[in-house]
Amino acid sequence: MIVTRFAPSPTGLLHLGHAFAALTAFQTAREKSGRFLLRIEDIDVTRCRREFETAIYEDLRWLGLVWEEPVRRQSAHFTDYENALRKLDAMGVLYTCFCTRKDIADEIAGASAAPHLTLQGPEGPLYPGTCRNLSAEERNIRMARGERYALRLDVGRAHESTGILTFVEEGRGPEGEHGLQTVEATCLGDVVLARKEMPASYHLAVVNDDALQGVTCITRGEDLFHATHVQRLLQALLGFPQPVYAHHRLLTDETGKKFSKRDKAVTLAKLRANGATPNDIKRRIGLAA
Ligand code: GLU
Repeated sequence: MIVTRFAPSPTGLLHLGHAFAALTAFQTAREKSGRFLLRIEDIDVTRCRREFETAIYEDLRWLGLVWEEPVRRQSAHFTDYENALRKLDAMGVLYTCFCTRKDIADEIAGASAAPHLTLQGPEGPLYPGTCRNLSAEERNIRMARGERYALRLDVGRAHESTGILTFVEEGRGPEGEHGLQTVEATCLGDVVLARKEMPASYHLAVVNDDALQGVTCITRGEDLFHATHVQRLLQALLGFPQPVYAHHRLLTDETGKKFSKRDKAVTLAKLRANGATPNDIKRRIGLAA
């Protein structure tokens, strides 16, 4: 049976883009008599707010969505993510990274004389790997000194251990990719999986929860297409089953810019207050009313 999910982060009010993502996941499950889940991705406790979570429930109910209870709230499951992290650590695919944002920017600027050494990812320059080969001695000294550190995934080493990986794209990626995709694990570089102030990163929590909740089909915006490569690698490392992916187009405003949480005019709350009906919303985002 198909299981889909909508997994918003309660860092603002939902807008038309979210309505499209939520309805796509819901209708995909409905069309195939499957299950639809809602998950609250609130691991970033500094940015997530309870009132936005309440607004998410209100907006989605108003749109006509029905989901299974109880809703999984990631902030209640940090120990799950710690366990996953421990497994990865035991595989030797994590390393401690002491770099601050500034260290990374400086390192990249310093390499600009040799730009071929700075790898570009779809979201900007990749982490240059400064801490990847720190000696155990240096690492221990810096930890003992109380320096803050993050845990990064050594994607090169991790991918070597899994061998070639693929995933099925039933929707489309940013370049129109469709069908069987070969994982390019290094496309986002050595991603951070945990930090002191945030003990689990988005990639780690999402992969853990999709597996735990038995999600079989992941519908989400094509802006997360590259994240799928890393997440597929994490699934393979952690022995999780493989969902299929259906990345969808991103809604844009009249100027072609994608909606953001700052666009107050297109929040569902605002549109509703101005008299829009759920069918108006569906028509506006190009879904059957
Ligand atoms: N929580 C993520 C977001 O709000 C979406 C995660 C996902 O669909 O994988 O962007």
